[in-house]
Amino acid sequence: RFITVEGGDGAGKSTVIARMYEELRRRGMDVLLTREPGGIDIAEKIREIILNPAHTQMDKRTEALLYAAARRQHLVEKVLPALEAGKLVLCDRFIDSSLAYQGHARGLGIEEVFVINQFAVEGCMPELTLYFDVSPEVGLERINATRGREVNRLDLEGLRFHELVQEGYQLAIARDPERFIIIDAEQNPDQVYQAAMEALLARL
Ligand code: C5P
Repeated sequence: RFITVEGGDGAGKSTVIARMYEELRRRGMDVLLTREPGGIDIAEKIREIILNPAHTQMDKRTEALLYAAARRQHLVEKVLPALEAGKLVLCDRFIDSSLAYQGHARGLGIEEVFVINQFAVEGCMPELTLYFDVSPEVGLERINATRGREVNRLDLEGLRFHELVQEGYQLAIARDPERFIIIDAEQNPDQVYQAAMEALLARL
């Protein structure tokens, strides 16, 4: 079973899914927790190229293609074998990130970006996607409060970009609403965890 987790920066999804992963394993489920862009050597290297703060000259289409390339490699090398082995795959970001960030926020067009990603994933879509919903203001505040994490090119973007990302997610959700579970990620971390866990278990 393939489950993805999505949300704008500062939504707190990584912390919450690490906890979900532990709990699912405690319940005896065979789970793989992984992330995009990255999760395997080639894709982590592509991640470094994309997110390098020095690469301010990177063209938007190049960026979109690199995300799709990282996605492809991660899918064939890690996600598909785990699914074939019967695991539950929990993936931090997938195709919807590209629709929201590159398609909408960077202005390449959601359908255009979907097409190059279809080439990359060959129809392999998650059966369920948890969307961590946080306002752009709160997301930005949280990023600024946790400066210890890796610095990336996105840190140069202001509130407007975060607003566009959120809008992009709304558009991505509207294309395929049944797939999504929307979690209010402005609650405290324990509440977000509880809500996400309950919603996921109810759908499994
Ligand atoms: O979720 P995570 O923090 O690992 O994402 C790394 C960075 O890449 C974030 O700043 C995120 O906004 C950005 N990103 C992006 N386009 C994607 C996926 C992630 O700009 N398709």
